[in-house]
Amino acid sequence: MTTQPVTGERESCAVFNPADGSLVGSVPAGTADDVDDAVRRAWESFQIWSRSDPLDRSKILFTAGRLVREDQKNLAHLLTREQGKPLRESMNEIAGFARVMEYYASISGIMQGDYGVNASYGHMMVKRQPLGVCAAIIPWNMPALIMGWKIGPVLATGNTMVLKPSTTAPLTCLALAGHLYQAGLPESALRMVTGSGEVVGEALARHPDIRSLSFTGAVSTGIQVAEHAAKTLKKTILELGGSDAMIVCHDADTEAAAKGAVSGRFFNCGQTCTAIKRVFVDSRIYDSFIHRVQELVGKLVVGDGLKTGTDMGPLHTIRQRENVHSLVQGTVDNNQGTILAGGYIPDTPPYQYGNFYLPTILTDVDPDAPVMKEEVFGPVLPVSVFDTLSDAIEHANATRYGLGASIWTHDMRTINQAIQDLDAGIVWVNQHLRIPPEVPFGGMKSSGLGRENGRYALLHYLEEKTILIHP
Ligand code: NDP
Repeated sequence: MTTQPVTGERESCAVFNPADGSLVGSVPAGTADDVDDAVRRAWESFQIWSRSDPLDRSKILFTAGRLVREDQKNLAHLLTREQGKPLRESMNEIAGFARVMEYYASISGIMQGDYGVNASYGHMMVKRQPLGVCAAIIPWNMPALIMGWKIGPVLATGNTMVLKPSTTAPLTCLALAGHLYQAGLPESALRMVTGSGEVVGEALARHPDIRSLSFTGAVSTGIQVAEHAAKTLKKTILELGGSDAMIVCHDADTEAAAKGAVSGRFFNCGQTCTAIKRVFVDSRIYDSFIHRVQELVGKLVVGDGLKTGTDMGPLHTIRQRENVHSLVQGTVDNNQGTILAGGYIPDTPPYQYGNFYLPTILTDVDPDAPVMKEEVFGPVLPVSVFDTLSDAIEHANATRYGLGASIWTHDMRTINQAIQDLDAGIVWVNQHLRIPPEVPFGGMKSSGLGRENGRYALLHYLEEKTILIHP
């Protein structure tokens, strides 16, 4: 497997396996000088990359997709070791990265300009051109896929990028960058700078020569990053997570909905921005739905993601586990819900050295409980009952987030009402969590600003230049 040389040879950040605490590797702790150096090189590279034929850029992205697919098993293994997710999920994520490269390869160069003619002004042309050096700060929960979403549109449009992976899961990102270089991408067109958010992340957000910053992570960090970016007038994309609601109506296919709730909540140990974080179930089917969910959750195999048969790995960090557990405890202590499954930290073998938390179901949860309002980034499924659709939609909208939401029904009027009234950047019908690269992805309210994916992302990374030629 190719790995990418990182800038700086200073102190290092160790990367630990969340399943057993063992050391997986380490990366240099980058500095503000490393960021300066990376930005300077990326500008040099921009002069050439931005003038390259989009077809040549496509070829590189296609080749990168192929190389990543060929190395899928190694990359997935590394991802599971540093992040904790089951190998099956890592395999899918690596394939997802390749697919994103292939998708952007297929649309590189499609955003052509515009032309018109006017008797007074003459020829009126609109040329679209790349911005320059763009930056990305990415988290640890889906490092490969999110890296793909960030770099795909940037490189396809002829921009160059400086990317900071998370401190706790940087290794797969570096390996993926290595595959892009092997595919022919100039190393200065994608500079990876490892190190902490406070140092490297903040230096990127503040840097005056960066034209766009795309960030995925917590709301509080996103606000900080946006403040720095505003001072240097960067275009900004913020993807700040969600508290997605799932509404299960009385006519829903209960079996499909129960399976959807379990996969949509416990996938990636619940650490996905668009995971199902709250479920509202019609009172007429509440008992049967809960019963089926409980059966399915009882069958989930929790353990080391590298072991065959594991359905759910550990939480990524101990801090994540503490946050999750305190929200569960708070719900119970304040009589705002009842634990039906899980709800505690296992400490017997094979769990004692990892950040494990058992899949948890909370029932009869007060829709106003913090566990229903905050982004619970872990394996906790809080379920509430509703009597009318309007109530369910009102509860679903009653958070500061607005990333995704799903409605489970076959009634067209109900579907139309949900599509109209749910405050969410994505509304799923009879499914949840799936995000194809072709369509825009992003949230409303505190879930963020701007959209990633699809041709909408290309537009973010291009700016219009108007040209008027007098006849
Ligand atoms: P953060 O927002 O702290 O981390 C995300 C990225 O931002 C990381 O690369 C981090 O670097 C970097 N960063 C941290 N501080 C700064 C800063 N001051 N300036 C610039 N960059 C910075 O998220 P956490 O990992 O702490 O997770 C906390 C919560 O955030 C989760 O529980 C979840 O609710 C939410 N979250 C949402 C995600 C999503 O997909 N929308 C993804 C991850 C988290 P470093 O790794 O060095 O800390």
